[in-house]
Amino acid sequence: MGGGQLGRMFAHAAQQAGYFTAVLDADADSPAGTVSHHHVRAGYRDAAGLAELARLCAAITTEFENVPADSLRTLAAQRPVAPSGEAVATCQDRAVEKAHIVACGVPCAPHAVIETAAQLAAVDADLLPGILKTSRLGYDGKGQVRVDTPEALAAAWAELKQVPCVLEKRLALAYEVSVIVARGAAGELVHFPLQQNLHREGILAVTQVPAPDVTPEVQQQAVDAAGRIAATLGYVGVLCVEFFVLADGRLVANEMAPRPHNSGHYTLDACDLSQFDLQVRALTGAPLVAPRLHSSAVMLNLLGDLWFTAGGTEPVEPPWQHVLALPGVHLHLYGKTEARPGRKMGHLNVTAASPAEARDVALRAAELLGLAAW
Ligand code: ATP
Ligand code: MG
Repeated sequence: MGGGQLGRMFAHAAQQAGYFTAVLDADADSPAGTVSHHHVRAGYRDAAGLAELARLCAAITTEFENVPADSLRTLAAQRPVAPSGEAVATCQDRAVEKAHIVACGVPCAPHAVIETAAQLAAVDADLLPGILKTSRLGYDGKGQVRVDTPEALAAAWAELKQVPCVLEKRLALAYEVSVIVARGAAGELVHFPLQQNLHREGILAVTQVPAPDVTPEVQQQAVDAAGRIAATLGYVGVLCVEFFVLADGRLVANEMAPRPHNSGHYTLDACDLSQFDLQVRALTGAPLVAPRLHSSAVMLNLLGDLWFTAGGTEPVEPPWQHVLALPGVHLHLYGKTEARPGRKMGHLNVTAASPAEARDVALRAAELLGLAAW
């Protein structure tokens, strides 16, 4: 379900193992649809499209977090579906997601659910300065407003059309990490090492692994927390949990994604099994073997802005030839037909024998592309 880049990379992994794939997505040019054996061009709620997908597939997964949970439930009546509609529904709503995280004994940012004017009026001033986030349909920092005062909070809620929101206290972050786990139907769990993530304007920009600032304690806490979150959901498949690490070393869960994640793209080139390989294994019931990181890696996201760095209005292909002359560079482009600012067009993985070397080459690649250093 879903024709984006995550579906494309999943299809590639499945095809490499000899499987045929089918993608349901309404867009004729979707990144996954164009590389899949079958492309069901239908909306996520289209009954005939869902029936066709079920007919074509022996097992079904989603690459898109906001696919209607009811469609996954409909498909599950006919085929194995992983993750389940229930698990995906939990991740689709920030308020429900946070309640689940807290119920698992995992700390998250102090927050308040705002669905009514009364809840808005009753907000604890301690939550300011904060970030008002829509409970549903946010991604890449969209649907979020930073607020410093009760007046700004009220104005922000109005700006967001008074849809259900969560107000989160703005925390002073030392750094951000995420962990990707894969859980099988029998409850077996494997994980990748923690990756450290740098966001710019709410969008992931750089992922580094091994995570330069992570202590063994933080690593263990994050893996345990993600394992509890997955087990309590009865989760099957690949799950990513994003965390903040505060100045005092405390780990705070941010959110989770019921699918492979942008911060795990380095696994394609730096691990013996990628996050997409593990999703294929989870879906086909193959053994989940612990993946091994065999190289240090830095992942740079390639946003559509890169096509406009020269300042023109017509998109210009970035200077890949120069970047590809560097050692250990793997260019992944998603086959999107149109570059737009803020749109994820691809990513660059740099692999090397040491973290210092990966960073050095990645910084040179960033410079060639006009990306900021870190
Ligand atoms: P995604 O693309 O990961 O789904 P999103 O739109 O759901 O993003 P969040 O993960 O909630 O957004 O926030 C994006 C980024 O904004 C975070 O990675 C972090 O850098 C910053 N941020 C979010 N919430 C807080 C907070 N409570 N305190 C400080 N920084 C925050
Ligand atoms: Mg996020």
